[in-house]
Amino acid sequence: MAIAEANSQQQEKASSEASAVEKKRWTLSDFDIGKPLGRGKFGHVYLAREKRSNHIVALKVLFKSQLQQSQVEHQLRREVEIQSHLRHPNILRLYGYFYDQKRVYLILEYAAKGELYKELQKCKYFSERRAATYVASLARALIYCHGKHVIHRDIKPENLLIGAQRHDASVDIWSLGVLCYEFLYGLPPFEAKEHSDTYRRIVQVDLKFPPKPIVSSAAKDLISQMLVKDSSERLPLHKLLEHPWIVQNADPSGIYRA
Ligand code: ADP
Repeated sequence: MAIAEANSQQQEKASSEASAVEKKRWTLSDFDIGKPLGRGKFGHVYLAREKRSNHIVALKVLFKSQLQQSQVEHQLRREVEIQSHLRHPNILRLYGYFYDQKRVYLILEYAAKGELYKELQKCKYFSERRAATYVASLARALIYCHGKHVIHRDIKPENLLIGAQRHDASVDIWSLGVLCYEFLYGLPPFEAKEHSDTYRRIVQVDLKFPPKPIVSSAAKDLISQMLVKDSSERLPLHKLLEHPWIVQNADPSGIYRA
């Protein structure tokens, strides 16, 4: 026990000397913590200010015990590793991370306008201009990710965390098609009362466009080209950006202005 303590003290001394020369190691005392921004599966997200620079960030606090219980430590490591290397205007930055005995802290770019999902719920559905602007921005972010062999795999309005595994990047085209439909109709395309029915509708690609809200045939054409069973037949993302519905409706700045 005594030996172990001595060893760990030596290690701490060595590592603190190393960190003085290496890049900055963050600790909780570097931040003023503000209001809670939301609650995630494994902890909470707070508004925070980095004391020296006054830079506003979102600090995501994850409990190690919960990560261990759900056996997602490895997955988190990968997500952190990947997200910290992505640099794109449409992808939330991960500036860094640190941890203490009980928690892991992720220093994230602050998304001042919050979740898109809440906006969609508030408006019920988006205008074609708004939907096209978001779809084009997402397509650009995905083209960037796919260029780095990162596949999102989990695109939906309430979730834009990045995950990676080497399988077909066209899963993201399918998800973007589902999202585009949901933006325009306010409901996902294959919804049914029972899970099994939803599953059957997905497998059969039972795509139906309701009469209300009124959606242009150009938008329906684009969605139909993305929601295709054979992944090799789905409209590639660079072609999506050239589709008439995107060209005519998406704001070139990538920002939707009401
Ligand atoms: P998890 O994916 O672990 O369940 P999230 O990353 O979705 O958790 O975070 C939970 C909530 O915290 C989000 O729904 C959002 O409201 C808020 N939040 C997370 N990250 C940020 C951020 N960078 N800027 C602003 N709010 C955020």
